[in-house]
Amino acid sequence: MLQRFSRSLRFRFLAALSGVLLLALISLVILSKWVIFPALHKEEHAVVTKELEKIEAGLNVSHETLLAQARDWAIWDDTYEFVQGNYPGYTDTNFSQQMFEEMHYQLMAFFNAEGEVHFLAGINPANGQYHTCRSVERECRWMDGLVHTMQASIKEDPLQRKSALYAGSPPLIVASNPIFRTDESGPSQGWLFKVRPMDADWLSTIERYTGLPTMLSVVNGKEDNDIAINITGNTIFAQRFLTTYPSNEQIALGTQLKRTSYLASLETFRYVLLWTACLMLLVIGLVLLLLERIILKPLKILTSFTQQISGDIDESSSLLKRGDEIGILARAFQNQFKRQQQLNAELIQLSTHDPLTGLPNRRLFDQRLQEVVNNAQTTGQSLSVMMIDIDHFKLFNDHYGHPEGDICLRRVAQTMHEVATAHGFFIARTGGEEFSAMLPATSATQAMEKSQALSHAVDQLRHPHQVSPVASYVTVSIGISQLDIEGAMTPSGLMTAADQALYAAKADGRHTAKVYTPSLANTAFSSHNTLP
Ligand code: GH3
Ligand code: MG
Ligand code: MG
Repeated sequence: MLQRFSRSLRFRFLAALSGVLLLALISLVILSKWVIFPALHKEEHAVVTKELEKIEAGLNVSHETLLAQARDWAIWDDTYEFVQGNYPGYTDTNFSQQMFEEMHYQLMAFFNAEGEVHFLAGINPANGQYHTCRSVERECRWMDGLVHTMQASIKEDPLQRKSALYAGSPPLIVASNPIFRTDESGPSQGWLFKVRPMDADWLSTIERYTGLPTMLSVVNGKEDNDIAINITGNTIFAQRFLTTYPSNEQIALGTQLKRTSYLASLETFRYVLLWTACLMLLVIGLVLLLLERIILKPLKILTSFTQQISGDIDESSSLLKRGDEIGILARAFQNQFKRQQQLNAELIQLSTHDPLTGLPNRRLFDQRLQEVVNNAQTTGQSLSVMMIDIDHFKLFNDHYGHPEGDICLRRVAQTMHEVATAHGFFIARTGGEEFSAMLPATSATQAMEKSQALSHAVDQLRHPHQVSPVASYVTVSIGISQLDIEGAMTPSGLMTAADQALYAAKADGRHTAKVYTPSLANTAFSSHNTLP
């Protein structure tokens, strides 16, 4: 059953379709993994990098603003005089805690032409107190590290007009410019550094400016990449690593975004995928349904039609009216079967009938005899047989010729067949001019009556036989035997007995009928044997 199913068209089609489906799914997975998801990630990275660039732009504006402010103060006659010790009122006029707070400065440092501290002013980030000093002592001790870094920077690049980032807590934007007269004439008389903290206020300004959440941290050492992107759940976190002076630390400037666009794309993709899968399943289901209705079901009907055909053709079958290939196939089967039936009938006719007279032949007679003998023996009914032989037929042939002999044979056969049909018994041509009949439920006495009907009918033909010593027309001799009489217990015994009776009839002058009796056996044989 299972083996038959595995060979069926339905199974093969299902297997092939499942294979195609599997391939499609694998392709989808590969496509998602290697093409779609990477493309979505790339797009997401591009978006977050662009947002990060906005924050960097904000930082750059901070740098430029502070640098402009440092330059504004550094290239100014008042500062020029002050740093040379020629303008004692400079500090009182220009410095106050309020100015520092409004300008959002942490420190301003003036260095003379030798790079030594000339003046320092700043707000201590630890306690928020504003102080001015001439050196990094007492209240200005907290500036010590910064001042040293600035001095190192001056040594490195005396022409400096730049803005740099210093690591610290908070990190700092430091802009510096050499000190010149307002008209920039004469040599530089020192350096001015302005320091702006990247504290919470600065971050909120950037956030206001960019509309993005902004984070800042100091990283020890140096990161391999300029940018780092991390994803946690629905949040994407991007950081840009910025170099600080003197560059043994980095500042990480970062922002985080909700992965809305990515998740929306993913959702859309999943939605499309789901619908594609549903559509595929629907199409497959539909294909299977159509296959079942259009091909498999008619094929099944055709199969049972061809199996039925071995019985009889159902001419009303709707299959025969179909215009498609199945209909053509059914009609071809039908025609083939009809032809087959015809050939079989012809073959049976040929193998069981005599071609000259059309009467059943010996083969069919023997077959039937076996059956009727069995039947008679089971039911206990009587059964008789006859052997009929044309008298002096050799002489007939010799005189009239063989073709005339054939015509005679046909006439005699036809006549005897009509009598047999009328009397309800079976007659066959079992030899050249020899016929045999079987008469179920008939005793030898009754058979004798029928033999006379036969002989009489042949006589009535008055088929001329001028050379017959018996009559001027064709006559027959008949031997009769009955089943279960001693010596006639089997089909062959029965026929031998009839044969012996026939020869007895021949011996008795022909044109007569004889019934077999056991006593007749030896005499009939001997008379037969003595016939010329
Ligand atoms: P008997 O009365 O003793 O039967 O004599 P008979 O001549 O009929 O018997 P025999 O057996 O000597 O001859 C039978 C003849 O039947 C010989 C043969 O030529 C002829 N015969 C057999 N079959 C055919 C046939 O199909 N056509 C023709 N024309 N003759 C046949
Ligand atoms: Mg004969
Ligand atoms: Mg004969």
